[in-house]
Amino acid sequence: MAAGAEGAAGAGSGGLALLGAVPGAPCCPHGPALLFVKTSQGKEEGRRFYACSACRDRKDCKFFQWEDEKVSQTRLAAREEYNRSHQPPCTHKQNVERYKNFVLLPLSKRRFCQECQQLLLPDEWEKHLSHQFLCDISTAQLRSPSQLLYPLENKKTNAQYLFADRSCQFLLDLIISLGFRRVLSVGTPRLHEMIQSKALQEENFRVRSLLLDIDFRYSQFYTEDEFCHYNMFNHYFFGGEAAHETCRKFLHEEKDERVIMVADPPFGGLVEALASSFKKLMATWKDTEKGGNKNQEMPMFWIFPYFFESRILEFFPSFSMMDYQVDYDNHALYKHGKTGRRQSPVRIFTNLSPSVIVLPAEEGYRFCAICQRYVSSGNHHCEICNSCTSKDGRRWKHCVLCKKCVKPSWFHCNKCNCCALENHTCEKIDVGCFVCGKAGHKRSTCPSLSCTRTSRQAGKGRKQKQKTLKTLKRAKVGVCNRWAMKHAVFSRRKMKKKKKDETT
Ligand code: SAH
Ligand code: ZN
Ligand code: ZN
Ligand code: ZN
Ligand code: ZN
Repeated sequence: MAAGAEGAAGAGSGGLALLGAVPGAPCCPHGPALLFVKTSQGKEEGRRFYACSACRDRKDCKFFQWEDEKVSQTRLAAREEYNRSHQPPCTHKQNVERYKNFVLLPLSKRRFCQECQQLLLPDEWEKHLSHQFLCDISTAQLRSPSQLLYPLENKKTNAQYLFADRSCQFLLDLIISLGFRRVLSVGTPRLHEMIQSKALQEENFRVRSLLLDIDFRYSQFYTEDEFCHYNMFNHYFFGGEAAHETCRKFLHEEKDERVIMVADPPFGGLVEALASSFKKLMATWKDTEKGGNKNQEMPMFWIFPYFFESRILEFFPSFSMMDYQVDYDNHALYKHGKTGRRQSPVRIFTNLSPSVIVLPAEEGYRFCAICQRYVSSGNHHCEICNSCTSKDGRRWKHCVLCKKCVKPSWFHCNKCNCCALENHTCEKIDVGCFVCGKAGHKRSTCPSLSCTRTSRQAGKGRKQKQKTLKTLKRAKVGVCNRWAMKHAVFSRRKMKKKKKDETT
């Protein structure tokens, strides 16, 4: 999306900022588009445009429209037709029907086309003869679709990073020990499938899950009560009101059936879009109580890299970040371990009390009685900060000049007046707002963005003054680059670069 939008809008030296979901926004095949503003340095007001919420690459969705653009009736009709024709060929209902027939087949007739990523019924074999396919699809395989389907690898739009079994099991055990009986799995197909298959296999297993995901391939394996085709960047249910209602019903808690939402979104950024959707899901949960008199927030685990901590807390001040390192299967880079950089930067953010999130002692986590939370083995309690300050699992050191703990590899630079890598370049960059280009404020508090949620962030500016060079640079390139983060985070090449200018 933003990257695609950037191409179309020709962002040039200016920036790109998300204004969000607005009423009456035009639709692309992925639901209502999001409103962005393209700014050029120094200009008072940027030009606003709509772009796809889900796709970061123009190749995946070319939707683009200036906010003030007049769209003719003919073009509107053509767009509607285009959106219709870009929906999946089968409806979810049809897929459920196909599944019922599929499981009736003897093993020898159960085929899965790897090219089309589709369960095949015998009368369809012929069409797929030249494709690679798997035979003898067992019940066990049908219960683990995330193993059968290949993980989507489109780095820009929809990269899928599946939990390592250990992390998935940890999450589920934690959820159960906390007394939850229902899980709203947002972009967590592997957690969903672990819950679903245990429910089928273990008699006393009482947990249920509803999967919300944009990957429609899952509709082949789950009923409409188990999976909703959903876009978490614009809170769009592809299945319309019926699907929305399914979600609403699921969130309605019976006597002791407590619900938790677990989300593992693409890391590409647009934290504000995600936060806005999660808030809507939380509001739906709240509304399910008669008279809406629930006075808490819906419990949630938001799984995201630690360097997004301040962004997440901006939108969810009640959240805190846990030290637990979430591991993935299809990341060679992010396997758990104490050596080198092979430690996952992905953490759990939650609005539950940190003291109840018990982390596994076998993996070195221990309880800090002062912080009242579990911390990683290398995270030492700093007497001066009065907190366990490490974010990445390594032991951080306190800098008296910065008045805070910093990464072990950093040193205080008197020129920059902050801590940085020893070999950093002391350049004073002009830290102007990347929306309007003026100094004195940041994008989040830019007066030219009157319709964004800005005012309540005003106090944050001061706290962030001492940010490192790198962070400032990143803030400057703005949202579109954050979008590219998932890519950046997971590609080896970029990882090396990150190592050089940030992580070390
Ligand atoms: N670790 C998780 C998978 C996380 S990968 C697990 O193992 O279960 C991110 C997930 O979000 C994928 O399942 C992907 O299909 C989904 N996703 C990506 N973009 C989305 C969007 N716009 N709306 C909803 N889901 C999305
Ligand atoms: Zn789109
Ligand atoms: Zn502590
Ligand atoms: Zn300290
Ligand atoms: Zn310092």
